[in-house]
Amino acid sequence: MWKVRIHQALEAQRAKDRYRERKICQTVERSQSIVVDEQVYLNFSSNDYLGLAHHPQMIDAAIQGAKESGVGSGGSPHVTGYSTPLAQLEEKLASWLGYDAAIVYPSGFTANQAVIKLLVERHDQIIADRLSHASLLEAAMFSPGRLYRFKHNDLTSLSSYLDKDLDKGGRDIAGSDMKNHAGKLVITEGIFSMDGDHAPLDEIAMLSQNANALLMVDDAHGIGICGKEGRGSCDLYGIKPDILVVTFGKAFGCSGAALLLSKELAEYFVQFSKPLIYSTAIAPMQAAVLLEAITLIESNEGEKRRETLKANIAYFRQSMEKMLEHVAKQYPADLSLDCPYLLDSNSPIQPLVIGEDQAALNISKRLREKGIWVSAIRPPTVAPKTARLRMTITAEHDFKMIDQLVDALAVAILDESQTA
Ligand SMILES: *Cc1c(COP(=O)(O)O)cnc(C)c1O
Repeated sequence: MWKVRIHQALEAQRAKDRYRERKICQTVERSQSIVVDEQVYLNFSSNDYLGLAHHPQMIDAAIQGAKESGVGSGGSPHVTGYSTPLAQLEEKLASWLGYDAAIVYPSGFTANQAVIKLLVERHDQIIADRLSHASLLEAAMFSPGRLYRFKHNDLTSLSSYLDKDLDKGGRDIAGSDMKNHAGKLVITEGIFSMDGDHAPLDEIAMLSQNANALLMVDDAHGIGICGKEGRGSCDLYGIKPDILVVTFGKAFGCSGAALLLSKELAEYFVQFSKPLIYSTAIAPMQAAVLLEAITLIESNEGEKRRETLKANIAYFRQSMEKMLEHVAKQYPADLSLDCPYLLDSNSPIQPLVIGEDQAALNISKRLREKGIWVSAIRPPTVAPKTARLRMTITAEHDFKMIDQLVDALAVAILDESQTA
C-alpha cells in the first residue's frame, strides 16, 4: 500500500519535470561565491542579502558564544534551554521593533505554523494572500478553521472576504460559546518570496482593523532590508500588525525566527504553543550571533550595506531592461513564446518569468555552464506557466558581477529561443 503510493507519487513527479534535487553547495568566504561539484560559481540564489553570513563579527560572536556556553541549549525553553543570550535577544527584538514581547522559534516555518496551530479554531476564518509562503498555507489548510485565499495584493478581493459573515449557524460540538468568539485572521507578507513585491500593508492594516480581524505579517524578506535602520516592511508602511513574524535565515545571515506580540498574546504562546514548549531552544551561541546581527543591521555599516544593496538592485534592473529590450528585437517572431520578462520588484528578489518549466531549467543550466548559479523555480512553488529564474541580488555583489549575469542571460535566453 505505502510502497505503491510512494512509488507512484515519485514517478508522477519525475514525469512532470518537477523532480527536485538537493545539491551540495559550499559558500567560500562570501555567500556570492559557491562551490558545487568542485566548480566555483557566482551565486545569485543566496538569501544572505546583506552578506552577514560570513561577516567577521558574526563569526567572532559564534566562537565567543560557543566557548562561553557550548554549542547546544540543552533543552526546551520551558526546561533549561532559555539562556541569557536568548532572553536578551527576545528583549532586544521587542524593543527594536516596538512590541511588548518577542518569542524565538527555531525556524520561520515553525513559527508560522505555530501561530496558525494555536490561534485558529473551528469557526474561525483565515484570509491569506494567495501567494503566502508554503508554511502558512499548509498550516492553514490543516487547521480546523476555514481558509480563504485572496487575490495577490488585491484589496477588493481581501475586502470581499472580510465582509463575509462568520459562521454562526449550528451548534458547537463542545456546546461552548466558542463560535460566538470566532474571528478572522488576515495573513500577508512584507515582501513576497517568489515575486519580490511589497504588500500594500497600510491599506491591509486598515481594512483588517475595520473588520475587527487579527493581522499577521510574515516579513521574512523585509526585516533588515527596508524601513528605518532595517526594521522592515511594517516600519516602512507605518503599521504594527498584531503578529509580526521575522526570520533570521535571510538578511540576518543565520537561521531562526521570532514572533512579535502583545504581552497577552505572548503569554498565550508561552503557555500553549507546542512547537515552542516541546522543541529544543536555539543554542545560546546562535542567540549571541543573532544579537550581533541586529547590532550590525542597526549600525552605520548596516545602513551602508543596505545602500550598496539598493544600488545593486537598481543597476541590475536597469541593465536587465536594456538587455531584454535588445533580446526582444531578436526574438523569433513566429514563435508563440513570450519573451521572458522581469517582475516589478525593488527588493533583492528579482524574478525573471520564463514560462515553461523546461525552458527555465535550460536557461538556468546554460548559466551554470558560464559559472553563474541561478535557481529555476517551477510549479507548484509558482503558478503553472510562470516558471522563472529567481535571482537574488545582495550587498556582496558588485556591478561587474551583475554585468556578467546579465550578459550570460542574454546569450542563454536567445540560445534557448532558437532551440524551442
Ligand atoms: C524563508 C521563509 C520562511 C521560512 O523561514 P525559515 O526560517 O527559513 O524556516 C517563511 N516565510 C517566508 C515568506 C519565507 O521567505
